[in-house]
Amino acid sequence: MELKFLGTSSGWPLPRLGCKCNICRSNDPKDVRLRPSLLINDEVLIDASPDIYHQIKKYDLDPTKIKYIVLTHAHDDHIMGLFDLSHVYNNKTKPILISTKSVLDQVNKKLRASFFSFIKTSLSPFNKLTLGSSTDIWLIPVRHSVEAYAVKIKSKKPFLYAPEFRSIPGPSKKYIGDLDLMIIDGSSKTRVGQARGHETIEEGIKVAQELSAKKIYFTNIGHKTDTHNDLTLFVKEKGGDKFNIAFDGLELKL
Ligand SMILES: [Zn+2]
Ligand SMILES: [Zn+2]
Repeated sequence: MELKFLGTSSGWPLPRLGCKCNICRSNDPKDVRLRPSLLINDEVLIDASPDIYHQIKKYDLDPTKIKYIVLTHAHDDHIMGLFDLSHVYNNKTKPILISTKSVLDQVNKKLRASFFSFIKTSLSPFNKLTLGSSTDIWLIPVRHSVEAYAVKIKSKKPFLYAPEFRSIPGPSKKYIGDLDLMIIDGSSKTRVGQARGHETIEEGIKVAQELSAKKIYFTNIGHKTDTHNDLTLFVKEKGGDKFNIAFDGLELKL
């Protein structure tokens, strides 16, 4: 599996408009972050960031290859890109939009016209859906400020994408099992500036250690964090070498 991080910010891009803080004045290209989306093998998109048009252009991607769009939840920063993705030329078939029935209903209410441009597949929590010939996905419930899921994906090796959560309930933890890779919520570094419905990176390190994931990347990097460089030093010091900070354009092979 080839993973590409199209965006790694939280609700708003970094640098934030008008801000003069350390992160927003940084010269490191890794501190420039668009809204969160992850692309797998060019054909499975997890969450449709409002920046998706620019992400597709920036990385010279072929939008007609995107066959499946999996949604973790219906917050605007994860679904508003569906408006742009509803208008792709030369698509042989409509892309398939996958989430629970109730998340799909929420998307329908917010984006009524665009919603008709997709084939909908509702997937119940913990149930398996096979995409193509060999990629299995599951939606695993997590606690957030609204109904939300982590996506577990397995082709040869299993990984988890959980961009936004306050905590992971016990039954979900049991279900997740062993992971080669875990990509989790990095919206605040510590309790300072912690957003409602989100864990902190400090807490995320403990969650990842409990689940014994082999490699961990934080995404959904918020404004109350640090520069990419300092944040990387922080997670490695607190958690060890297997902890990392994602950045826009990062590619991983699994
Ligand atoms: Zn700032
Ligand atoms: Zn959210």
